[in-house]
Amino acid sequence: MADVNKFDILVIGSLNADLVVRAPRFPKPGETLGGGDLLTIPGGKGANQAVAAARQGVQVGMVGRVGSDNFGPVLVENLKSNHVDTSRVATADSATGTAIIVVDDDGQNSIVLSAGANGQVLAADVDSAPDAKILLLQFEIPMETVVHAAKRYKARGAAVILNPAPARSIPNELLASVDILVPNESELSLLTGIPVGDESSAELAAREILKQGVKIVIVTLGSRGALIVTESQVIQVDAFKVDVVDTTAAGDAFIGGFAAKLLAVNAQSVDFAVDLSVLEGAVRYGCACGALAATKLGAQPSLPSKADVAAFMQ
Ligand code: ADP
Repeated sequence: MADVNKFDILVIGSLNADLVVRAPRFPKPGETLGGGDLLTIPGGKGANQAVAAARQGVQVGMVGRVGSDNFGPVLVENLKSNHVDTSRVATADSATGTAIIVVDDDGQNSIVLSAGANGQVLAADVDSAPDAKILLLQFEIPMETVVHAAKRYKARGAAVILNPAPARSIPNELLASVDILVPNESELSLLTGIPVGDESSAELAAREILKQGVKIVIVTLGSRGALIVTESQVIQVDAFKVDVVDTTAAGDAFIGGFAAKLLAVNAQSVDFAVDLSVLEGAVRYGCACGALAATKLGAQPSLPSKADVAAFMQ
């Protein structure tokens, strides 16, 4: 791929190998259980969101690290085959990030996450990365790197979108550099200390976030859709009705689709804060992507293409 000095969307985040085994139930401590065949599936919230956006036809770059084991090249090749620029995915002298996932007969999962090389994505990786119209961040790389990236790209005029997942508390200085925060209900609860279980508690908690400098909060509500909260408006966007198979990566599909749609509507700059109808349209598009992802098993294999979304939304 030609060298790009400004991407539509840059993701600075994680790449994981998801190692998935089905078992009748979860093993007890000390117990050995027979399970199904091992599936190795490309994952990691950063890589998932990069692929989700690239499948909507925008130009996406990824900044991250894989390990010097056999998984590293597999994950990089997978991004390439999804048209994500990997020239800033480096190799660390460690293991690749890995999620060990057991899925039981009820479809519940139990996950041990090993950060591996994702723990070595540092400020220097950010400083050597190209510009972008939109920067997408999550929490599977070190928090100092996330804070550094948000500040740097905000100062360079990018729209900074943060998905605060996996849920954790965050330094105050981070939110001052974020334009759009996209939490689910449990992440929003953890960030604010406010129990979130319905639209009114979600709005209340989102308003706390707005006080800290974020322009827009979009709370994803699973099968209930999403809530947009700005200083002057609250807009509820309904979910699409689908037959759910597995909701893994629904949030990643939502964010990638949402960010790509913002650009499709406003290709030159992302001055979304002034045009709520553009924002609402992009959230609706994200909801379609999330719903489609919920109809298929796995993370990246379930992320819809632009054509899938177009057919579905008709
Ligand atoms: P996360 O996966 O991060 O917890 P959500 O579960 O809120 O995020 O899902 C993200 C988006 O995907 C939702 O806002 C919604 O639009 C869509 N979605 C998720 N689950 C369903 C579902 N069961 N039916 C329809 N849409 C869904």
